[in-house]
Amino acid sequence: MESNNNLPDKNGFFGEYGGKFVPETLMYALEELENTYNKLKDNNEFKKQFYKDLSEFVGRPSPLYFAERLTKHYGSGSIWLKREDLNHTGAHKINNTIGQILLAKYMGKKRIIAETGAGQHGVATATVAARLGLECHIYMGAEDVQRQSLNVYRIKLLGAQVHSVDSGSATLKDALNEALRDWVTNVDDTYYIIGSVTGPHPYPMIVRDFNSVVGEELIEQSKESFNTMPDAIVACVGGGSNAMGAFYPFININQTRLIGVEAAGNGLQTGEHAAPLNDGSPGVLHGALSYLMQDEAGQVKATKSVSAGLDYPGVGPEHSWLKDSGRAEYVAVDDDEALEAFHQVSELEGIIPALETAHAFAYLETLMKEFDDQSNIIVNVSGRGDKDINTVAEIDGIKI
Ligand SMILES: *Cc1c(COP(=O)(O)O)cnc(C)c1O
Repeated sequence: MESNNNLPDKNGFFGEYGGKFVPETLMYALEELENTYNKLKDNNEFKKQFYKDLSEFVGRPSPLYFAERLTKHYGSGSIWLKREDLNHTGAHKINNTIGQILLAKYMGKKRIIAETGAGQHGVATATVAARLGLECHIYMGAEDVQRQSLNVYRIKLLGAQVHSVDSGSATLKDALNEALRDWVTNVDDTYYIIGSVTGPHPYPMIVRDFNSVVGEELIEQSKESFNTMPDAIVACVGGGSNAMGAFYPFININQTRLIGVEAAGNGLQTGEHAAPLNDGSPGVLHGALSYLMQDEAGQVKATKSVSAGLDYPGVGPEHSWLKDSGRAEYVAVDDDEALEAFHQVSELEGIIPALETAHAFAYLETLMKEFDDQSNIIVNVSGRGDKDINTVAEIDGIKI
């Protein structure tokens, strides 16, 4: 939880992005959250509890693992995998929920709500709520309830209630709308655990800080594994939390290229994608100003991605700032490329990655041509692919 730049500013802006565009009823709740967080983040007891939970319950630190056959396959530079897929519940999401549930506990909130897309954040939230015996409600788009039925049942097994959302495109953005509506109504006793570096200030900062444990570990592990800092870190970008957690501690380490990979869906040129940083423009969604997929009238456009966790028209404001400042690069790969990488990594490494993560792997096809033998490239393996096996089997025409 160390700070590497002074952003966001006191109003929650990263350059021109971010802020707090919310109804007045939420302003008090956001201020209460910000004050609590600012008080606790440097508190030794709080930090001790956070890192203890990450170690004993999540299984951190996650390994930095040399991907030998993938490295041989490309024949240039060493490829290393940051194994967030090995965390309890199978993705990076739990780093954030472990931290935020501690904030909720400290604030005396008895009721937890969250939105979820692929279901990983819903599972990670229901998990930490169960551990503390707190009532938990998860909002999920009806479309995602269908394609991620395994995670829906996991959430129910953990004692939480799943609310299927039929409005709009019935995906992540609509679930977020419903969760915000719930929060406005029940703000007194309810803590809203946002699952990515999105939403109004202070959420993008809080979620970044809790996920930064990934980048902090990478600095140590890079020294141990190859004696210098990596030449590049590659991570998929939906809302941007796994990427931000890996990138943030490296912002001032200029030898490391930071590369975010968005979902190009049917292809950037078709307009049917989920890549606001590659093909979007600044606008306000879910309480923050950031790159957004919108039409000329400012209406949010429909998104398309094979991966539910990347199927979101917005992106965290700090990524918009990193893009404009040039410190990070943002590229996109389409559904077909991601599916090919999903199979490739499964067969070459014995690791079935999440479809989200497969987007980061797919970009190696382009990226590895830019590196020589001496280079070290880290892929942030945001999660494991068990949840996606039905989706992939269906696409491959296989009945399971
Ligand atoms: C949720 C999720 C993502 C996308 O969210 P970010 O906030 O962009 O990290 C990526 N990978 C996995 C495995 C996820 O569960």
